Amino acid sequence: MTDVSADWVLPVDGPPIEGGLVRYEGGAIVEVTQGRAERHHADAAIVPGFVNAHSHLEYAMYAGFGDGQAFGPWIATHVERKNRLERDDMIAIARLGVLESLRAGIATTADYSFSGAAATAAAELGLRAIVYLEVFALDPAEAERQFERKRALTEESELVHIGVSPHAPYSCSLDTYRWCLSLGIPVGTHLAESANENEWLEHGSGPLQGIAPILVPPTGKRAVATLEPVLGPDLLCAHCVEVNTDEIALLAERNVPVVHCPRSNALLGCGIAPVAELREAVVRVALGTDSPASTPSFDMFEEMRTAIYMARARTKRPEALLATDALRMATLDAARALRIEGQVGTLTPGKRADLTVVSLAGSPYHPVEDPAAAVVYGGSPERVLETIVDGNTRYANEDNEQWREVRSTASAARQRMLAPQP
Ligand SMILES: [Zn+2]
Repeated sequence: MTDVSADWVLPVDGPPIEGGLVRYEGGAIVEVTQGRAERHHADAAIVPGFVNAHSHLEYAMYAGFGDGQAFGPWIATHVERKNRLERDDMIAIARLGVLESLRAGIATTADYSFSGAAATAAAELGLRAIVYLEVFALDPAEAERQFERKRALTEESELVHIGVSPHAPYSCSLDTYRWCLSLGIPVGTHLAESANENEWLEHGSGPLQGIAPILVPPTGKRAVATLEPVLGPDLLCAHCVEVNTDEIALLAERNVPVVHCPRSNALLGCGIAPVAELREAVVRVALGTDSPASTPSFDMFEEMRTAIYMARARTKRPEALLATDALRMATLDAARALRIEGQVGTLTPGKRADLTVVSLAGSPYHPVEDPAAAVVYGGSPERVLETIVDGNTRYANEDNEQWREVRSTASAARQRMLAPQP
């Protein structure tokens, strides 16, 4: 038995517990109650390990590429630079992504992986992950080849499971989506991320013309309508920025899990997803950081805050998204979107022992009045004291030789991407 306690415990599926204690054994939570353990974190809160519903760990070092570019040219810059990397570089960068995730209190990530390197890195460093191997293909036979090639380089483990990601409706055909959905593994895509996507699909125009040779021919329909035949509870859809009222109703009717990535959408100039409307209509709206290719970090606290800022600014309603809502989207709702709520997402006996300890000392929210607001508005990766995954402390806020090495190897890989081609 291991006990850990703090001034506050936020189980998320029940009210906050002042002076709370979490007891776990064999990687599973046994009890959540009032009490004080020998390992007590004063001026701190324990929350469920965050579930990041959309990441690309292997883009952890892609920060600042093409800053200010439109969505189409931005994608082209990334594709070109990614081609300069060897697989070892991709693993080195993915390791940094894992570290940065754990440092931000993330215990589970849903990672869309170009090379599969994310699976290797997550297994090595103990991050729980569903790694969706990306395919970009009009022909399902080509999708199968891409998937099998990547699948052969990855291994499943207790913490890491493999899924598949047909990239987007403009880079994969409906038949490719159908093939992916036939595999019986988790499937995730990008959907309605930008107006450029709708422009290409509807009219064959706009900045995506620059990469026309690798795209699906225009369908004459918007992104959501293009994917309509395959939309359902098994297709995780990241972004959904460019969705109108009818499209939100369709997503709800089909019980489609949606991932909201507000910082990524803002920084790429894609817009603000109608998250309040989506939450009112769709059962499962999760939160995801996306990757430093678009957002600056895997910082779930910043993501929760940005979700709140954007929702309130967009609707001009202060109650459009509350701190408790954002915390739920980063834990339980994300677990539900990934269909792993039986295992993670709340501090509940029987679930896996995934816990994040956040210090509130020195924050303006301490002494604590509203613990959820204190964690969401006052939290930051620097304030994460400990991230526990499956009962093992995978990150502790202290200087560490292993992490220094991870950072320097990833920096060297970034240098190779920045270097001009010979
Ligand atoms: Zn993405």
